[in-house]
Amino acid sequence: METSRARRRQRIVIVGAGIGGLTAAAALCRMEGFEVAVYERAAQLGEVGAGLQMAPNAVKVIRALGLEDRFRRIASEPEVRLSLKWDDGTVRAREPFRGRMQEVYGASYHTAHRADLHRLLLSLVPDDAIHTGAECVSVANTASGAVLRLANGEEVEGDAVIGADGIHSAVRTQVFGRSEARFTNQICWRLILPMEELRKAAGKLPVPLDGSEYTGWLGPTGHVLFYPLRGGELLNIFAGRVSQQWADEAWAVPSAIDEMLDAYSGWHPGMLEVMSRAAETYKWGIYDRDPLAHWVSGHIALLGDAAHPMMPTLAQGAAISMEDGYALARHLDAGRSDIAAALSAYETQRQPRASRVQLQARQQFLNNQMVPPPPPLPVDWIYGYDAVTAPVELA
Ligand SMILES: Cc1cc2nc3c(=O)[nH]c(=O)nc-3n(C[C@H](O)[C@H](O)[C@H](O)COP(=O)(O)OP(=O)(O)OC[C@H]3O[C@@H](n4cnc5c(N)ncnc54)[C@H](O)[C@@H]3O)c2cc1C
Repeated sequence: METSRARRRQRIVIVGAGIGGLTAAAALCRMEGFEVAVYERAAQLGEVGAGLQMAPNAVKVIRALGLEDRFRRIASEPEVRLSLKWDDGTVRAREPFRGRMQEVYGASYHTAHRADLHRLLLSLVPDDAIHTGAECVSVANTASGAVLRLANGEEVEGDAVIGADGIHSAVRTQVFGRSEARFTNQICWRLILPMEELRKAAGKLPVPLDGSEYTGWLGPTGHVLFYPLRGGELLNIFAGRVSQQWADEAWAVPSAIDEMLDAYSGWHPGMLEVMSRAAETYKWGIYDRDPLAHWVSGHIALLGDAAHPMMPTLAQGAAISMEDGYALARHLDAGRSDIAAALSAYETQRQPRASRVQLQARQQFLNNQMVPPPPPLPVDWIYGYDAVTAPVELA
């Protein structure tokens, strides 16, 4: 009985085709004996136009999926890291960056367009495994697995159901209850523009920038990051600012360029000149939540933002989601004769690490607002981790 169950293909149903869900699907598709089905609410697959920092811990997962060479071709690796004072553009720090992370952590640190990373992950998952326009409205454990119900009434059964449905996860709410989200009085804007716009603004910049830098403009009530995407073809800007104005926790709320520039009134004119050259911008509010104690109930498990929505201060949300996706596949592979035990071991391995990152992101957020800011919190334990080799310990 045990042997035949172990040999049968396990059907793993994933809710959400975001970065975490697709990492899990891609990793499972590369292993023998799994049938993967991904149910995505959006009618079409894709990602929002925004940049993403991919730290070494994420790049190790990208490597294990066999995507590192392709990823390097679509990503950027900044040459130097530069810190500028918000108002007069004084250089606070300049340090070599490219190649350094590889030496210390065994993988490099990249910046990439979310849509490019999403496409790469998607290339590892067969088309017929992805179902779009499929919104999950409920999930439940059954006698032998789990079932999800879609908004159209269809029911989908699997040996396991994985909630990778992001920050407002329906699976999390249903299985673990509603979690309180606190607005942090911080709003952010994201914008992408052709790199040549940075060069056109060169005369107004306090120091020469050619776009190969990771540049942070740091002030007491906000910070603005410039970094390259697509090998320097595009400039990504992330701008965070303390504000009393309430904002949605959603990525796709358009904002006016002037609204954004007004929020940075008094900041360096060269920085504002570059930002003013964007054609469009989107804003969203930063919210904070406490870590969840549990991510697994029977044959249902959470991963990514569904399990650990975190502030963007450490640029680790997607990285930890990718670690989760890979770790989940490894646990399901090692524990295929007892899925509930495999998922429970997955939670034991992942929950403490992800919660610690979540809490450090909160602390770093608070530290960033202190004057003067204390030294950055240590990230060695984050970047040095390898989800590909971390021990899988089944009970
Ligand atoms: C401002 C900002 C900057 C960031 N920068 C970085 C960074 O530089 N580096 C980094 O590592 N992380 C970063 N992050 C975090 C990162 O974007 C997220 O942590 C990551 O996208 C989480 O991936 P996910 O797969 O869990 O969720 P998502 O990528 O949100 O995917 C969830 C998917 O589930 C689908 N879905 C939702 N509900 C349902 C449903 N009911 N049924 C079916 N499908 C559903 C959604 O449509 C979506 O496709 C940043 C986040 C923010 C807000």
